Amino acid sequence: MRNAMFAFCTSLALAAGSLSSTNAAQLPAIAPTATATAPAIHIQPSTIGPGDVLLVTGKQAGSVVVMNKTYSLQKSGDQFVRFIPIPIDAKPATYSIVTADKKAKAVFTIQKKAFAQDSITVSKQMEGMQQNTKRIEADQKRINKARSQSAAVPYFTDKFQMPVQGRLSTPYGYQRVVNGKISSRHLAIDIANKEGTPVAASQNGKVVLAEYLYLTGYTVMIDHGLNVFSSYGHMSKLDVKAGQIVKKGQVIGKVGTTGFSTGPHLHYAMLIGNTFINPNPFFQANPFDWK
Ligand SMILES: [Zn+2]
Repeated sequence: MRNAMFAFCTSLALAAGSLSSTNAAQLPAIAPTATATAPAIHIQPSTIGPGDVLLVTGKQAGSVVVMNKTYSLQKSGDQFVRFIPIPIDAKPATYSIVTADKKAKAVFTIQKKAFAQDSITVSKQMEGMQQNTKRIEADQKRINKARSQSAAVPYFTDKFQMPVQGRLSTPYGYQRVVNGKISSRHLAIDIANKEGTPVAASQNGKVVLAEYLYLTGYTVMIDHGLNVFSSYGHMSKLDVKAGQIVKKGQVIGKVGTTGFSTGPHLHYAMLIGNTFINPNPFFQANPFDWK
């Protein structure tokens, strides 16, 4: 499993000449020019949009600097990796990523991406919910605690699946306008379907939160390892408990409209640590194979 998962990283190790002769014999030869230019860090994908995620892989412990922020690589198996969230307001340009010791460098490009507006009208009572900062802050503490730890070894070895069938009613990144006022950005995807439709875990993982929250109603959060989390909101019912290990596709709850919601739908979010990111690349390919 691990070999398949880190297929790319194995080739990186080969280029660096650190594989045992037994393993090397089973792998195709790499041209000498490739060996000479083998980078000590690798980024995938090399072209992304604001709100997307980079996977950085290195063969040594250490940290990397991306957009003025320092991230230490996490040991995972025989590699050092880190998922890095790119802010949704990042300026489109080509950026460098360098190791803290400045010995290795790689580049990536953030492409321009337009995010549309989405206007919704809610009752005065619902609008008032957003002002209850005491409840919201209390929930946030519980959420932060749930996401304060993540498995060092990923639970996943393939791409993620859509947690529920239905109509994509609000994509990731939409600028929300609530009752004519600019509200927060929608950093999740909304999938509308009938109340009671089963909701599945998008990937293997460990449930770190399964409870009623003020804004997102019945909510489940799953740790997939390496700081990758998924979150499922507004459900009518929970089918799992915190601490439980779940498999990709396992039913964790039912579609509902609990919390700050105008109709039955699943609010599905993905995070790297505490940063909400675009879930779509996780559905398209195994993150370890992102091109
Ligand atoms: Zn939503």
